[in-house]
Amino acid sequence: MDSGFVHIIPSSRCHGKTENEKSYGEFDEERDSEYTFVSALSMNGGDGDNSYSTNSLLQRRVLAKAKPVLVKNTKELMIDLNFPNYIKVADLGCSSGQNTFLAMSEIINIINVFCQKWNQNPPEIDCCFNDLPNNDFNTTFKSIHLFKEKNLTSFESYFVSGVPGSFYSRLFPRKSLHFVHSSYGLHWLSKVPKGLEKNKTSVYITNSSPISTYKAYSNQFQRDFTTFLKLRSEEMISNGRMVLTFIGRNNMDNPLHRDCCHFWTLLSKSLRDLVIEGLVSASKVDSFYMPFYDPSEKEVKEIIGKEGSFEIKDLETHEYDIGHCNQDEAKRSKSGQNEANYIRAVCEPLLVAHFGDATIYTLFNKFAYHVSQHADCRNKTTVSLVLSLTRK
Ligand code: SAH
Repeated sequence: MDSGFVHIIPSSRCHGKTENEKSYGEFDEERDSEYTFVSALSMNGGDGDNSYSTNSLLQRRVLAKAKPVLVKNTKELMIDLNFPNYIKVADLGCSSGQNTFLAMSEIINIINVFCQKWNQNPPEIDCCFNDLPNNDFNTTFKSIHLFKEKNLTSFESYFVSGVPGSFYSRLFPRKSLHFVHSSYGLHWLSKVPKGLEKNKTSVYITNSSPISTYKAYSNQFQRDFTTFLKLRSEEMISNGRMVLTFIGRNNMDNPLHRDCCHFWTLLSKSLRDLVIEGLVSASKVDSFYMPFYDPSEKEVKEIIGKEGSFEIKDLETHEYDIGHCNQDEAKRSKSGQNEANYIRAVCEPLLVAHFGDATIYTLFNKFAYHVSQHADCRNKTTVSLVLSLTRK
């Protein structure tokens, strides 16, 4: 099975080019040579000022919002499986830092309290933490004592392991998983889609992108999400549950519509500033695309229905709340800096792989400024989708 980010084959888009595309020969070469940059995808490691661990409050708020769905599905799983004596749980895309422990200890504690309530023996719980091999697992496992403190109800009946690998590849033996959790990982694609036209200094879909750009992205998401479901269907037991949270967008007639304050729109603006100042070449920016997609609820439902192994139990849409709306001047610049820190923590390794590290500081200063200029925007399109599924 293709292990997603780890082995990316350079694009073969030189075939069947139009005359117009041929004039971008230079751009093609640059893009092809840089294509492997996707293998650099990882969040900033460690626990310093720019680390994911320090800058993932947004994702923590997302976990809190998804908690009711997590609680409900964990309880239903225990009933459906008639209180088994062993449960294997995986957090896919766990990243580094403590967020993953919040989710996992929630599951452990719900199971134990629920067992007490029903006068049942608590199961032994196998807790598997997955992410790409580049992930800083050390930072996560160094704070394992905090995980233990959180699991007040469990009395050592759980076991912890790390599982490095792409969730677009097989990670676990057949029919071994009871519960899968994944938060804010599935909007990352296995690769930059093929067939994108020259991006004119926008790193993602924008209102002015050609429709072919949207199609290339939505096809890649369809392929990746279908692969994810198919592989998990092999690994999960019948009646097993998944709770998946990821970035999506509100259903809109125009699939190209992205808000003026969308984080990738603001990153594109910041990169354009660097081009104007002569710090980065335009062709370098033209050849950079984010391996990311924000599907609508409708797209997600269609893919799940077509793949066929899972039944949708819950599908909720939550406001994407980065917390910078309608604030006074001082707070605006502070929240601009905060958002810059969040976004830097999730995409610095990708950007460094393509642009080098010399301009990162300046880039995110520009980004913070652009965020502060959009403080009055109410972010209408970007949302978090919370989805629960049962293995049929
Ligand atoms: N779940 C954590 C981390 C979210 S960040 C939280 O809620 O805070 C998203 C994580 O998904 C990153 O660590 C990234 O490396 C991981 N990820 C992205 N694509 C992946 C893939 N194909 N396989 C495994 N992990 C992936």
